[in-house]
Amino acid sequence: MGGTPAGGDMSKAGPEAGDEHYEVVIIGSGLSGTLMAARLGEVGIQTLVVEAGSDATDNLDAFHGASIKIPSAPFPPRVDGPGRDLSDPSGEPVGRPVVLSLNRESWLDPRQSYYIQSGPLPFASCYERLVGGTTRSWMGISLRMLPSDFRMRERFGQFTDWPIDYRTLSPWYDAAEVALSVSGEAAEQSYAGIEFASGYAYPQPPLAPSWFDGEVRRRLSGLQLDGIDVTVRGTPSARRSRTATGAPACEGSSSCIPLCPTGARFSPLTMLAAAQKTGKVTVASGWVASRLHMGEGGMIEKVSLIRSDASGLKRQVRADRFIVAANAIESVRLLMMSRGGGNPEEGLANTSGQLGRNLMDHPMLVSWGLMPEPVGAYRGPLATSGIESFRDGDFRRTRSAFRTEIGNTGWNFPIGDPDTTTLDLIRGTNCSGLNPGHEALAGSALTHRLANLLSRQFHLSFELEQSPQESNRVTLSDQCDGLGLPRPAIAYDMCAYTRAGFFHAADISAQIHAQLGSIDFTNRNSTHPASIDIGPDAGGRPRRVRYFGAGHIGGTFRMGESARSSVVDKWQRSWDHRNLFIVGSGTFPTFGTSNPSLTIAALCLRTVDHVINEWNA
Ligand SMILES: Cc1cc2nc3c(=O)[nH]c(=O)nc-3n(C[C@H](O)[C@H](O)[C@H](O)COP(=O)(O)OP(=O)(O)OC[C@H]3O[C@@H](n4cnc5c(N)ncnc54)[C@H](O)[C@@H]3O)c2cc1C
Repeated sequence: MGGTPAGGDMSKAGPEAGDEHYEVVIIGSGLSGTLMAARLGEVGIQTLVVEAGSDATDNLDAFHGASIKIPSAPFPPRVDGPGRDLSDPSGEPVGRPVVLSLNRESWLDPRQSYYIQSGPLPFASCYERLVGGTTRSWMGISLRMLPSDFRMRERFGQFTDWPIDYRTLSPWYDAAEVALSVSGEAAEQSYAGIEFASGYAYPQPPLAPSWFDGEVRRRLSGLQLDGIDVTVRGTPSARRSRTATGAPACEGSSSCIPLCPTGARFSPLTMLAAAQKTGKVTVASGWVASRLHMGEGGMIEKVSLIRSDASGLKRQVRADRFIVAANAIESVRLLMMSRGGGNPEEGLANTSGQLGRNLMDHPMLVSWGLMPEPVGAYRGPLATSGIESFRDGDFRRTRSAFRTEIGNTGWNFPIGDPDTTTLDLIRGTNCSGLNPGHEALAGSALTHRLANLLSRQFHLSFELEQSPQESNRVTLSDQCDGLGLPRPAIAYDMCAYTRAGFFHAADISAQIHAQLGSIDFTNRNSTHPASIDIGPDAGGRPRRVRYFGAGHIGGTFRMGESARSSVVDKWQRSWDHRNLFIVGSGTFPTFGTSNPSLTIAALCLRTVDHVINEWNA
């Protein structure tokens, strides 16, 4: 899939070779960039997609050989070397953050962590850098945002409102669901004000619920917590529930992150291939955008590219319009490296001073337990149902909302099972908490014990709405990557509003475990650096839980009504540079509780339609 631009093979370009011209240049080949490129290609607009990462295919050997099966494991560069040390990001031309660099030894060490973090808390979400971007290893959950998520100030007196509302985005959600082949059921998803067009049907019927989903539904039926009805709903997902011509359906292998073995989960690669087939879209992989150049009238006139191998090749490409689609951290990095416009101290597109600020995630509280009987763990997609009851309500005046994902993969996410428990039962250790007698088993005693324990496991992920805070910020560090470009510096914390949501989620979690009749094994004495206090237990002892990053990164180039307070307008167009669009979840002014990619897709389809209409005007 390497790049062959009009005019020759980019990889053979000489240093600062002659300027090339395209109608549109898109920087980043992830979900955002790919959806837009496909549409531009369809209508015949000559488009170059610049991608820093390689066009590597899924590397199963690397995945199998990895000591820990993190989402990045199948993709280059390798995250650990022969001695199992993390590779040094200062030597990587296209570095990326990985979850392994979040522990006590590594999160503040620039030789192990790609992010240069200053805390006080670690920012815990990561992303990929290769053709197709982070959705190469995503889970596919595709929820719409709630109408109130767009109206936090008007409804709850908090933060800010979006310059668009749910009704404006609704037809674009329809289009995004088609593009991503989302499975779901409109009636079941019509809650908390979500409305669908009359007769609307998702492109794919809903996925079958898992065995455990059914158990949770049955055991929580009729339950009210804090005056809120606890309701279990199916979760819309960007994976085919039924086979289509030549396209497989989900077979429930429970390995969606990082790899879907059947190809039923949406992959940006399929869409990118379709875009290239139009003959109008060229992909230049292995080229890092290092600077955007401003010309007359504040217009962006060209982008500088550096080859990501050791060749030292450089190139400049001109275009009529530029779309930065490099995610909520790398887009900021590129704009900040492009000093000379807007706020001269802090990069392009930044007269508002908001570029890089308001960094958000959906920090997750994960709880795990053991049911009295088997519930079929480790079967199905990673999650097929959730509890959406706490996503909305008047409580959002004082604390954040959350959604609860019902996990189908036992304790894999919280403790790395089945490996951890298996090793415990062979070695006589008790890292999992499931071998308190420190027994060392073999043969059928081992397999029977494992079958009994693993099949009863479950976990719940409480994904918290994080509030926008100006001090949560991405800037440029003085530490560089292998190309000599500054790495992202991150300052991150959780404010009282978000922490109050965590307290509440921990409380609801305990009540759900009690109602399920499960034994709750959640570690409430965490010493991990990514941990927060959730208040004392009944005996007055302090409790700390680890939070996990969701991989949902947003807020850093917020959209708004005015150039003074936002980076882009409602079309994701830079206020400062009218031929520059900056797209993705970085434009979200507030984050709600929906996994962001469906909203990213809806916004990108809306923006590209606007670009095309302007073109034709
Ligand atoms: C493990 C995991 C699971 C997830 N599951 C879900 C889920 O279930 N549902 C959901 O909604 N979301 C999920 N997400 C989030 C989702 O993956 C992101 O929202 C989505 O990938 C964002 O798409 P994007 O195109 O904006 O950015 P990305 O996918 O990150 O793509 C950006 C691309 O730009 C390239 N790039 C960056 N800098 C440069 C540069 N200087 N020059 C050239 N190219 C550059 C990068 O290499 C990358 O390929 C998950 C994330 C993770 C990590």
